[in-house]
Amino acid sequence: MENSAFIALGSNIGNRYDNIMSAINQLVSYSNIKLVNCSSVYETDPVGYEDQDLFLNMVIEVQTSLSAMELLDVCLKTELELGRKRIIHWGPRTIDLDILTFNQENIETEKLIVPHPRMLERAFVLIPLTEINAANRIPGVDKPLNLLIDELPDKEGVRIWKRKNGEDGYEHIGS
Ligand code: ADP
Ligand code: MG
Repeated sequence: MENSAFIALGSNIGNRYDNIMSAINQLVSYSNIKLVNCSSVYETDPVGYEDQDLFLNMVIEVQTSLSAMELLDVCLKTELELGRKRIIHWGPRTIDLDILTFNQENIETEKLIVPHPRMLERAFVLIPLTEINAANRIPGVDKPLNLLIDELPDKEGVRIWKRKNGEDGYEHIGS
């Protein structure tokens, strides 16, 4: 299990929490994927295409002996198994799984870009990530995560929904 990856999960259709938990269970059902850490769960305003329901978002850290491409295939397969249909770009989805980082690697292929190209402008990704990314850094990015988050305009749209320790809460995050 030599590789370390952070994966973002999001859902805004049906039982959003169940969808996220099912996706995590699917991932760890692979003997070569091990769950290392989980963020709290956040409820977030939709970004991009705004006429849709609120999302739940979360980030997990896994260790795996899979390559980045193999891990992407597992993520895409899990999305399909949980019934994700791609209708509207950035629209409603049962489950979205994005590989945020894979070790310290920069990967740019047609199917996979790591670090995930849109993560830097997404508070719903960076806020949960910073909870479990002790290094406070994204490979190839000079600024630490906490400064990147400070500069994001939409962080009020990201609210704690279920704390890591299991307690619910609805207060706003950030400064
Ligand atoms: P988004 O997650 O930005 O809302 P989609 O989930 O619809 O968009 O995009 C999925 C496609 O993005 C996948 O088919 C996959 O090939 C591609 N992709 C590129 N880089 C990544 C990555 N780091 N993680 C997940 N998917 C990626
Ligand atoms: Mg995606």
